Amino acid sequence: MISAAVGTIPGYVGGDGRFAPSPSGPLHVGNLRTALLAWCFARHNPRARFLVRVEDLDPARSRREHERGQLEDLRALGLDWDEDPPVRQSERTGLYREAFQRLERDDAVYPCWCTRKEIREAASAPHRGAGAYPGTCRRLSARERAAKERSGRPTAWRLDARRQPVTFIDALHGEQHGTPDDFVVWRGDGVAAYNLAVVVDDAEQRIEQVVRGDDLLEGTPRQVLLAERLGLKAPRYAHVPLVLGPDGRRLAKRHGAVTLADLRAKDVTIEQILAWMAHTSALSAADEPYTPPLALATRLDPDRLSREPTVFAPIA
Ligand code: GLU
Repeated sequence: MISAAVGTIPGYVGGDGRFAPSPSGPLHVGNLRTALLAWCFARHNPRARFLVRVEDLDPARSRREHERGQLEDLRALGLDWDEDPPVRQSERTGLYREAFQRLERDDAVYPCWCTRKEIREAASAPHRGAGAYPGTCRRLSARERAAKERSGRPTAWRLDARRQPVTFIDALHGEQHGTPDDFVVWRGDGVAAYNLAVVVDDAEQRIEQVVRGDDLLEGTPRQVLLAERLGLKAPRYAHVPLVLGPDGRRLAKRHGAVTLADLRAKDVTIEQILAWMAHTSALSAADEPYTPPLALATRLDPDRLSREPTVFAPIA
């Protein structure tokens, strides 16, 4: 059993933090609210650093114009960051490769040629979590492995997780347990997998606390395990609620005016947007008018933050 290096009080706040958006489109008010919360967690402590990291690993989905737009939106909200310009994951392949090679040297990874379809079919066997990798390629004989190599299929690399249980504490959700499957650390298309890049970056950038959307809570045991296998200190975590559309699905363009540009085109002010973010996450009382981000940061108390998703309704 391993545990992330976390304090015993779930209400931790004020360490070096970051916001790590993927530049695949404009940020919506849900993403921006997460950014505000991550910023407040760090800026609660005047000595803590707050970084932005551009998670542009996926070349097919990442665009520089979205990166620029996202940074402009953060600035427009009055959020600042140390170390400008922010690092881009696409420029850090060497770091990820080095971490991967360390895992390879430790015999902690194995090659995998399974297609999504094969995994789906094998994983539907009983007693396995939905989407968990069933370990097919871990059990290949040397001959089977050689045949796969000759097949010309792309090779991904998976961590041999050995069904190791993981425990960590989340500032909002309390003690968490998980047993990661053998997840991909290096993709078949030659790109470092998200989990590897995030773990390497958070450690290399000396991030002490990760504040992000709670859709990522379920995958966090994988990152805690990977940090441990790489001999890195895992950060503390605070997974904050998402903003959903009225249909209960994740907020998206189809739900109306959800980006800063959309809202400003409707004459909604930055102050109104910030007030909405603060009310809906319980950073401020429902009847409180606009409060500047730094004042929100100073009084931030994770114990009082909302744990419930917010259903989006038109702002102002
Ligand atoms: N880049 C991820 C996203 O935009 C966030 C990853 C993280 O915060 O760890 O969903």
